[in-house]
Amino acid sequence: MIASVFEELRRPWTAVCVGLLTSVAAQAASAADCPGHPDAIGTSRTIVVDPRAHPIIGTMQYGKTLPLQDKEVVLTFDDGPLPKYSNQILDILAAHCAKATFFLVGSQAHANPGGVRKVRDAGHTVGTHSQNHPAGMDRLPFDRSKQEIEQGIASVTAALGDGTAPAPFLRIPGLRRTDQIEEFAASKGLQLWSADFPADDWRDVSANRVYELAMQRLEAKGKGILLLHDIQPRTVTALPRILRELKARGYRIVHVVPATPERPATPTEPQQWQLHPALAPEAVATSRWPKVPKFASAGPAALSAPALSDLDWHTSDLGVRAARRGRGIPLPPVAPWPRQTTLPPADTLAALPIPARSIFKLPEPTFANALASAARGPATVAQAPSTEISSAKLTGKSRRQDRTAAAQPPAPAGQAAQAPQSAAATTPKPAAQAKRNGRSVRVAGLKKR
Ligand SMILES: [Zn+2]
Repeated sequence: MIASVFEELRRPWTAVCVGLLTSVAAQAASAADCPGHPDAIGTSRTIVVDPRAHPIIGTMQYGKTLPLQDKEVVLTFDDGPLPKYSNQILDILAAHCAKATFFLVGSQAHANPGGVRKVRDAGHTVGTHSQNHPAGMDRLPFDRSKQEIEQGIASVTAALGDGTAPAPFLRIPGLRRTDQIEEFAASKGLQLWSADFPADDWRDVSANRVYELAMQRLEAKGKGILLLHDIQPRTVTALPRILRELKARGYRIVHVVPATPERPATPTEPQQWQLHPALAPEAVATSRWPKVPKFASAGPAALSAPALSDLDWHTSDLGVRAARRGRGIPLPPVAPWPRQTTLPPADTLAALPIPARSIFKLPEPTFANALASAARGPATVAQAPSTEISSAKLTGKSRRQDRTAAAQPPAPAGQAAQAPQSAAATTPKPAAQAKRNGRSVRVAGLKKR
């Protein structure tokens, strides 16, 4: 309250009077409208817009935005309804008496029609956001984009269940606009909503980061449309803090509804549809948002998988590979992504330590057992190699030779290397005996480590 009064003092005198009255009225209205929540930010006013007069809005992409005053914020939520999180978002908004606009996905509405009615019954504006939320609508054939838009509206209409249609407000998934989509939307009397700033809540960031980005970007523009997602747990966590901070910093929530024959548009001047009339619209739109962000495909289970053409693959034969897989033809072992294995330089390899011989030494008791067993067998000289043979069968010849040398310090390496041939030819019996005693298994087990 005090903050907003001081904010108004910066204006010329006549505006101060009007501003004070407006501010007081808004605060009084929000307190009265939000019983039990004296600290709620409330909704300061509702503006009625005519989509046909202003078919595209949002300075993330366009030169125009909603006719907001300084410190006015419009809340928007995309991708729902997803009961688990959307219901919590609705509860939070209710506790703050804040009205928002929801851009619902048709398939989500079909899966949760009750969720659509909850949004409407809470007094929020229901817009649409395509049927299946395709990841790259700008790359789809136009007919498919058209179908996505129309089916989305049909699904949300069906979910509303009372014969009413959603507001003619459309947000393209991922903001992936094309001239053709814009022309089509305008021909249908739809208002295309971009946004003025996102809070990156579709990304893998913390709730605190969502809060920080929302406030930083709002402060940078001074007013505008905030883009959020009601299907994200981090948004559920961040939203109460965002609303509290908006109030603390003197911002006001504005609700937007479409004009109807009974409800004419709020009178505005053309320059009010510019974020900062003093600046060229292009400068506002492009200076801070050079690139449209990539949105993650929303809605976990209820949304269909993206088509191959939606993905950012650059391998042209993927479609052919998919077709071959469908016909059961085995594919060559080529991964559809570039192999980027980086080998360490040769000098790095040379610098790696050589394992010490002692690593390959058998523990003393095992060696003693082998000697004891050999004492019961025909010949001590033949016995030790025979144990080696049985274990070598399990682990391979070259490693056996290495270990033979290490495990038999009393015998010269050359002698050990020759031993297997004679042992295999002349003394199969001790080898079998060693196996029965379990010693060869123990030895093999040690080798494997
Ligand atoms: Zn979306």
